[in-house]
Amino acid sequence: MKKPQIVILGAGPAGVGAAWQLVKQGRADVTVLEQRDDVGGNAGSFGLAGMQVDYGSHRLHPACDPKILNDLRELIGEDLLDRPRHGRIRLQGRWIHFPLKPQDLVLRLPASFSAGVALDAISKFIPRKSNRNGHETFTSVLEKGLGSTICRDFYFPYAEKIWGLSPEKLSATQAHRRVSAGSLGKMARKIVSKVPGFKTPGAGKFFYPRMGYGQISRSIAEEAKKLGADIRLGSTVNRIELGDRHKVTFEREGSMETVDADHVWSTIPLTVLAKVIEPAAVDVIEASKQISYRAMVLIYLVLDQAQWTPFDAHYFPEADIKLTRLSEPKNYSASREPIGKTVLCGELPCSVNDVIWNASDEDLASLVRESLARCGLPIQVPDSQVVTKRLPFAYPIYREGYEVPFGIQDDWADSLERVLTFGRQGLFAHDNTHHALAMAYGAVDCLRDSGEFDTPRWSEYRAEFTKHVVED
Ligand SMILES: Cc1cc2nc3c(=O)[nH]c(=O)nc-3n(C[C@H](O)[C@H](O)[C@H](O)COP(=O)(O)OP(=O)(O)OC[C@H]3O[C@@H](n4cnc5c(N)ncnc54)[C@H](O)[C@@H]3O)c2cc1C
Repeated sequence: MKKPQIVILGAGPAGVGAAWQLVKQGRADVTVLEQRDDVGGNAGSFGLAGMQVDYGSHRLHPACDPKILNDLRELIGEDLLDRPRHGRIRLQGRWIHFPLKPQDLVLRLPASFSAGVALDAISKFIPRKSNRNGHETFTSVLEKGLGSTICRDFYFPYAEKIWGLSPEKLSATQAHRRVSAGSLGKMARKIVSKVPGFKTPGAGKFFYPRMGYGQISRSIAEEAKKLGADIRLGSTVNRIELGDRHKVTFEREGSMETVDADHVWSTIPLTVLAKVIEPAAVDVIEASKQISYRAMVLIYLVLDQAQWTPFDAHYFPEADIKLTRLSEPKNYSASREPIGKTVLCGELPCSVNDVIWNASDEDLASLVRESLARCGLPIQVPDSQVVTKRLPFAYPIYREGYEVPFGIQDDWADSLERVLTFGRQGLFAHDNTHHALAMAYGAVDCLRDSGEFDTPRWSEYRAEFTKHVVED
């Protein structure tokens, strides 16, 4: 039987992951269309100052499905390093190891913070009235689970910087999906899991490819190409005509090209998909205006020093520091190269076209330097190079009530014959790379030998995906 032709939109982990599994299992002929000049999407890497750096801090979490992890180990081999986490978080002016270590609870946490958390823990046993007739929001879920001290000093200011909205305006879904330690009990278990004798496998560890996080997607894409997938970079999809065979039109090097598809599998933002499909659905395009993604500017400073600090990442929950995180990519792989140089990467959430998005490299570099100096970590050497990158689709924003316009788009996408949308952008899911890969594997599992797509089975997978919780 002739294999179906599947055109995949986007070559982030979800796109290349699906392409790889489809050709590996011999289920389809595959073409992948990617607008950028490299694969990996937000989980990609690029070369700077003789090393590979990522689009913000990226780690592969041990929570990855064992089957997928095994496949990645086979593909990446010894280059997939097993690394200890070594970050710091700034809390009331102090630096605390992140993730928290048991001894920090006693020795490092500010006394007022520890006392507040202890009081919150005790007050959990006092019965309280449920608020707003049981209506849950981001704030109510987190306050109920974690108490007011952790929320006030950590999650709420951090949330406001990440999503650009006061926490009261965020949906409860954001709390369920984003906060892996959603209760004091879970948080305590996470901390205790690092104590010798109580250690759970993977606690305080992560996986990281020697050649940068993008090596995951690059290795997958290389293997998929070897097995016959056609991966076309620099190809921006701008029109999909639905028909017996869908026609996917994309722009490459200034000219338009079209490929035919039995199935279109989209991992591009759902809001973009709504605009490129013909016939257009006006109500869906309207609904897509009511959901939005948070953007991010990444600021890379190249420093002429071997190492800035031994920490992989610094987290800044406090409102007076605009950065949310700063990573030192060299420390993720413990590489000694490039000799005598290191790179810092500051993460600055913003909106597309706001002042930050349009700021000059010089101003952004100054912002990083000033922020670090204010935290008592001044950079001691001048930067030899400043590079900035801009991610228009960094985080989906789960604004209160977003479920309605998202539902309109999701139902519409679901109703399109032989069109599937998945991945972080495709399902508007705040997820990790291993979740995007799980979606790709799930999609491939739903393609029957007859070439038809098993929609009821996909619904079961979709229900599973709603349980994905982001690991930091
Ligand atoms: C700052 C930051 C830190 C993160 N840290 C971690 C971490 O530590 N660990 C972890 O597991 N995950 C992390 N993530 C999440 C991770 O990046 C995502 O889970 C992953 O990239 C999702 O893969 P995806 O393929 O679904 O989407 P994406 O990576 O977004 O890929 C979508 C692709 O579609 C392409 N595209 C869009 N429009 C078009 C078009 N019209 N035509 C053609 N191509 C198009 C894009 O260029 C992109 O390559 C982080 C994300 C961010 C933003």
